[in-house]
Amino acid sequence: MNLTDRIFHDNDAAREHLESLRWENGVYCPHCGNTDEGSIHKLQGKSHRPGLYQCNACRQHFTVTVGSVMERSKIPLAKWVLGFHLMAASKKGVSAHQLHRMLGVTYKTAWFMAHRIREAMKEDVKSAGPIGGEGKTVEADETYIGKRETPRKPSPQRKGRPFTKKGKGGGAQKRIVVGLVERGGKARMFHLNDATKETVRDVLVRNADRKSILYTDSSRLYTVTGTEYASHKTTNHSAGEYARREGDVVVHSNTIESVFSVFKRGMTGVYQHCGEAHLHRYLAEFDFRYNRRAALKVSDRERAEDAIRGAAGKRLTYLQTDNAYHA
Ligand SMILES: [Zn+2]
Repeated sequence: MNLTDRIFHDNDAAREHLESLRWENGVYCPHCGNTDEGSIHKLQGKSHRPGLYQCNACRQHFTVTVGSVMERSKIPLAKWVLGFHLMAASKKGVSAHQLHRMLGVTYKTAWFMAHRIREAMKEDVKSAGPIGGEGKTVEADETYIGKRETPRKPSPQRKGRPFTKKGKGGGAQKRIVVGLVERGGKARMFHLNDATKETVRDVLVRNADRKSILYTDSSRLYTVTGTEYASHKTTNHSAGEYARREGDVVVHSNTIESVFSVFKRGMTGVYQHCGEAHLHRYLAEFDFRYNRRAALKVSDRERAEDAIRGAAGKRLTYLQTDNAYHA
């Protein structure tokens, strides 16, 4: 990333950059959806703020930030563009403190920006569809991080046979993240309040095509749901087995382990205080970068541009973030 690029310090250049990404297929009105460029006019002259358009179909005005995570923000566009590029390029993320210092905005502003950028990075799971598919391998696993803010309530499913992570760290008091990854493809991580066969099945069947080959550890969380998949292969982590040869294939879940490992290093090294209510946003951020990793030949610039494209149609309001601030 070339920090001397005009898009990072010239607000007009930044606006043109945002416009070229949002309106790749031509300008459209975010109010009424009008795509007829002949009836959308750029308002020129000193009496209008720069980048203002008028739609003749609905008579409303708009700029490139309307209907995006940047809407109604007073942060200069060049700072937004720099924020997007910084968060897209750094493997473990950028803290609000770092953004605050690097962009010369207040800590609170930096915090808002970071959450809005994460919102832009969030994958639209519904339109993307499930990962995996016929002949593809999906690894699933769960991991435990941080500390729960509210003690877990006993759930009826767990009565009698409480599920707790064995070993050090007291898994029962930690936050639970379930992760899925298609080998050579995309990853998706989810924060669960409670890991039960039911909640884990819900995540699995919504997000991993049942024609896939499923690889997990031998946790009983996956036993029943595993039978719904084309095949289900397991390694016994609690017995120290992390890889096992089965004919020509090696059964392992190294891919999901490495996804978790980048996430955990980021969470402990960069994001030391993450409210439980926001954990899903951080997961979306790490998924976003993993799914556009350098190994897939995605450059830092392309990754940042993808995040900016994702900003449209995802307006995170001040109210939503204000209420959540310090949560
Ligand atoms: Zn319109």
